[in-house]
Amino acid sequence: SMEEQNFHIVIFPYLAHGHINGFVNLASLLHNRNSNFTITFVSTPHHIQSVRSSSLFSSAIRFHSLPFFPELHGLPPNTESLADLKVSQFVTFLHATKSLQPAFDDFISAVAFDAASHGTKVAIVSDIFLGWTVEVARKYRVSHSVFLTTSCYGGAVFLSLWINLPHTKTTSEWFSLPEYPDVRIHRSQLRKGLLMSDGTNLSSISLKREFLLCCKTDSILVNTAEELEQKWIDMVAKSLQIPIFPIGPLIGGLNPASPTEATEIIEWLDLHPPASVLYISFGSQNSIQKNQMLELALGLEASRRPFIWVIRPPLGFNVKDEFKDEWLPAGFEKRMKEEKRGFFVHGWAPQIAILSHKSTGAFLSHCGWNSVLESLNSGIPIIGSPIGGEQPFNVTILVELGVCVEVARGIMENSEVEKEKVADVVEMVMGDNEKGRFMRERAKEIRDIMKKVWKDESCSSAKGLAEYLKFINSI
Ligand code: UDP
Repeated sequence: SMEEQNFHIVIFPYLAHGHINGFVNLASLLHNRNSNFTITFVSTPHHIQSVRSSSLFSSAIRFHSLPFFPELHGLPPNTESLADLKVSQFVTFLHATKSLQPAFDDFISAVAFDAASHGTKVAIVSDIFLGWTVEVARKYRVSHSVFLTTSCYGGAVFLSLWINLPHTKTTSEWFSLPEYPDVRIHRSQLRKGLLMSDGTNLSSISLKREFLLCCKTDSILVNTAEELEQKWIDMVAKSLQIPIFPIGPLIGGLNPASPTEATEIIEWLDLHPPASVLYISFGSQNSIQKNQMLELALGLEASRRPFIWVIRPPLGFNVKDEFKDEWLPAGFEKRMKEEKRGFFVHGWAPQIAILSHKSTGAFLSHCGWNSVLESLNSGIPIIGSPIGGEQPFNVTILVELGVCVEVARGIMENSEVEKEKVADVVEMVMGDNEKGRFMRERAKEIRDIMKKVWKDESCSSAKGLAEYLKFINSI
């Protein structure tokens, strides 16, 4: 609106696809809100190139490129994204991104100087893995906010778990966290790396450093809706003593889909009755274990329901390796294809199109937050199979909302996936029974609620955005 203060908002995501995608959506949201805002998207050359070429952005959005030298940290030259690395290199990568601080500092110095001469306010919005941006904001006396691309509950618990290491001393199955005495965490919700970490290894030290700095931010924007997790938003705001602004769901953005494959999938879906197909995906970068793939396949076969499975080589293989039949029960893929029971996606699936198709009835998901929002936005109930990170805590939110049953946990490590359980849960969620009917009804209710969060200024996420702008104007 006209009377709104003019801002220069600097958007700086971590260098990973999911984060960049979320921040692209955030930049569009801010630009659509007020085209007079100056918005600068900060990243490294490769990412800027791909965001630019996606032509998602109005030309009014500026880019600022930071020079990045991963090879100085022992990483392969030209590495600009986690997608190029092995899991064991993630911490090295996190360290390497800290080397962007001097260049970011120079940039903010120039932005702050320029803004002072134009009567504009500067606001930085950055990422939980870039806690050091808080130091830069403080140095130039500009506001700093963190944008959480996860749920509020999941993100906050994940931060707290790394800040409060170690967890090895907790002998009981359940424990709580110092900041959040009301939250009950089960040991099985923690990946081994986190559970066994004594707090002195490189990943603990660097994550704790970044996360502690994040807790000193001025406010947190979250890609969530108040209606999904009001009580958790209140809990986190109270504990951190800063405002939390839910501004979600922000969906879509960069996620590419090959158009030919998309057409083929949609045509395949068209062959099936409404709400009959199960969609299975573990996100953009995860794989599961070989034996878990076998059990899942047998469970799907026993469930007798049609499915689309975004399938990758099991853990231990390169995701880009050619897919081998031996990773599935003998003749499984061929048989399922012939019977039109199974569609196997060996690349990138058009997930949003699949979830919005009327034939899709449920989503077996690792419960990454983007997948969750996309599923709920289409009114699809979820079968939870969280792998790590904050995913197990996203499941907590979903179970409380009544739209999810958890089928397995820690699927990546040593938990068992049982074919009988897969078949039972699929039947429970998709079949003609009271619990299933209730879940499907709830998922539709939540879809309708989510459609309304932007409707007018009094609606939750529209209010969240307006309040954020008022807040950065006041500091
Ligand atoms: N995605 C997709 N096709 C795929 C795999 C993933 O479009 O084959 C998209 C999906 O729609 C979602 C994102 O990638 O937007 C995955 O994000 P999420 O937070 O669910 O999980 P992550 O990949 O970060 O673990």
